[in-house]
Amino acid sequence: MDTVMTLTYHGQDRESGREALEEGVAEVYELEDLLSVTAPDSEISALNEAGQAYLSPDTAQLLSAALELCALTGGALDITAYPAVEAWGFTTGEYRVPNQAELEELGDHIDYTRVSLDQESASLPDGMKLDLGAVAKGYTADRLAKLAQERDITSALLDLGQSTILALGAKPDGSPWRIGIQDPQGEGYLGVLELEGQAMGTSGGYQRYFERDGVRYWHIIDPATAAPARSGLLSVTVVSPSGLACDGLSTALFVMGLERGTQFWRDYPELEFEALFILEDGSLALTSGLKDSFTLAQGYEDREVEVLS
Ligand code: AMP
Ligand code: MG
Repeated sequence: MDTVMTLTYHGQDRESGREALEEGVAEVYELEDLLSVTAPDSEISALNEAGQAYLSPDTAQLLSAALELCALTGGALDITAYPAVEAWGFTTGEYRVPNQAELEELGDHIDYTRVSLDQESASLPDGMKLDLGAVAKGYTADRLAKLAQERDITSALLDLGQSTILALGAKPDGSPWRIGIQDPQGEGYLGVLELEGQAMGTSGGYQRYFERDGVRYWHIIDPATAAPARSGLLSVTVVSPSGLACDGLSTALFVMGLERGTQFWRDYPELEFEALFILEDGSLALTSGLKDSFTLAQGYEDREVEVLS
């Protein structure tokens, strides 16, 4: 999954913690083999290459859940944005700025509604490719949490890298896990979120980007323009019991921006998520459920923080 993961399990004894860890690591590699868009033998690569492929239950389940999130977010999340991600060079590091005609052509082929999925196979129209990169780490986090729970692990911190983290239970001493929120304009942490039995996911323009002629271009694509999403945000963090929701919705809310994102939060209480937006002017906005679990870090106490309700 192109990142460094840190999995910490607290078991009844050293042995049970170690066994849970080994099982978790094996699960990550298994899911990566199925889901990675860059692994030539994955099921997703097979689908992209042939336009049709049989899918294992895991892949089909994630694809189905991802398509649901695409629909709920009105296409702000769109798993068929991949050709645009490639065209901008984010898959190879050979960065370029496509011209307007190319962007329009790319935009015409971003449309998750044209992916068809039945029980065990999926198909895609010509010229389309899909990528579960915006949701795979969150899904993996949920799977690891489930495996750990089956082993009666009640405390674990599953850090899947690039800002997808799931906290199973509390710390062994009973206090909440404390997770630093990256300052998108600096090196350190701008604040701390307390988590207990919840996941979080952050999407931000600072995570992967390149610069041309003084303009920064990042890896989160607005499906409407096939270009990097410019919604006035530097990053969005989503907190929810579901890792999948955190991952998918952080990407979607980054595309939506503060206003649409806040309305989405109000419209979908059943998704059980909260969000922390960091705006281009450095100020913060957080939904009311995070009021007591977020604190600004030392040196950032004078940042403006709006509470959304
Ligand atoms: P994340 O880091 O979870 O926000 O996911 C970003 C990754 O998902 C990118 O590196 C792309 O591969 C892919 N992606 C970019 N924009 C979108 C989008 N609007 N919808 C779905 N996937 C996207
Ligand atoms: Mg995501």
